[in-house]
Amino acid sequence: MAESEPQLTFDTLVSLCKRRGFVFPGSEIYGGIGGFWDYGPLGVEMKNNIKRAWWESMVQERDDIVGIDAAIVMNPRVWEASGHVAQFSDPMVDCKSCKHRFRADHLDGNVCPDCGAVGQFTEARPFNLMFKTFVGPVEDTASQVYLRPETAQAMFTNFDNVVTSMRRKLPFGIAQIGKSFRNEITPGNFIFRDREFEVMEMEYFCKPGTDQHWLDHWVEERLNWFKSLGVRPENLRARAHEKEELSHYSTGTYDIEYRYASMGWSELEGVADRTDFDLSRHSEYSGKNLTYFDEESGEHIIPYVVEPALGVDRCFLVMMYDAYEEEKVRDETRVVLHLNPAIAPIKVAILPLSRNEKLAPLSRELYAALRPHFMTQFDDAQSIGRRYRRQDEIGTPLCVTVDFDSLEDNAVTIRERDSMEQSRVRIEELVAALREKLGD
Ligand code: ATP
Repeated sequence: MAESEPQLTFDTLVSLCKRRGFVFPGSEIYGGIGGFWDYGPLGVEMKNNIKRAWWESMVQERDDIVGIDAAIVMNPRVWEASGHVAQFSDPMVDCKSCKHRFRADHLDGNVCPDCGAVGQFTEARPFNLMFKTFVGPVEDTASQVYLRPETAQAMFTNFDNVVTSMRRKLPFGIAQIGKSFRNEITPGNFIFRDREFEVMEMEYFCKPGTDQHWLDHWVEERLNWFKSLGVRPENLRARAHEKEELSHYSTGTYDIEYRYASMGWSELEGVADRTDFDLSRHSEYSGKNLTYFDEESGEHIIPYVVEPALGVDRCFLVMMYDAYEEEKVRDETRVVLHLNPAIAPIKVAILPLSRNEKLAPLSRELYAALRPHFMTQFDDAQSIGRRYRRQDEIGTPLCVTVDFDSLEDNAVTIRERDSMEQSRVRIEELVAALREKLGD
């Protein structure tokens, strides 16, 4: 991968994502709706790959973490106990001149970024970010519920269920991937800040006093996970929150930040020490005992919690940013996504050298043979050079070319995305060769 500076702007990325079927504006034929995006045929593959990679590293490959999949709508008392009803708000100001709304903490000065008016902002007032809706046929305050703004609370409300059903001993974690909703005042920067997004969260329960150790541990683990998927280390850093930045439940938080080409260092993932805040509050509000019996000390304790929380959409954005390269090849520019094969939406493309009826049967046969093993695409339109470029632009690691010699020697050419090197492989060894090159 080239050592060059990332070159990608939001505009280039948004247009690539739309043109190649990664991400479309939500409800586009009706003019769209701010803060909502739809993943297209390639986007859904890549998003699923990101979620699978996270789940494998968090749940499948560990014996101290289990998963759950909870309901999005929870009893509204959950959000009173968690502090979200009282405190999950951002300071909002209106520009009296153009009537646009902004997050006060995102404004640089006294000048409206939209109309340029000076000194026209209203006083900042808190705006709760939770979406409200109603359960059942009556729309009154008794039936009002919230769409969850994070998945974490279900790990706390199910703490006792998991300990009991899975016979867990501290330290252990509960992981979940799911949709979350925040009525962000100013969504934007493509899928960086949406109103509907997906998070991958894990609550790691540990003994009080060991939380600092686990906080450091998880910051390291999470940085390593991004690096293992090929994110360039020079674009990643962990930044400790200042005291005034900390959430109401946290004594220590790190933001894992990424150096986005278009906005500089900004949050990618949060790793927070949530202390015993959530379990204590749920014990208090529900009246249920959420303590853990520590056999070593013979005492009932309330575990502390360390939480890594990563937005799938933000992770997707970072993978795209980091993989993108405009490379000079002779007098042409090749756009290539150097996506890790585990994340790439399509793993292998079958490309007959030309659309010739002699090549079609073998090409189709190979296509059918590879599909059970890998996400595979077939393309026989236009010149072979053009088709390689198309696959480069969507990050396909390997292309398999079927030519006229293939009909004689029962061999095909594998072309590698990053090096553009080609090698000849016998058809009966093709699946094994592809698997090896994909690191599968
Ligand atoms: P910010 O400061 O950017 O508003 P936050 O600190 O409130 O974010 P957390 O509550 O820590 O965010 O959420 C955990 C993770 O969820 C974030 O690191 C980010 O990856 C993702 N995330 C949060 N809000 C959004 C959003 N509106 N759109 C997309 N992803 C989000």
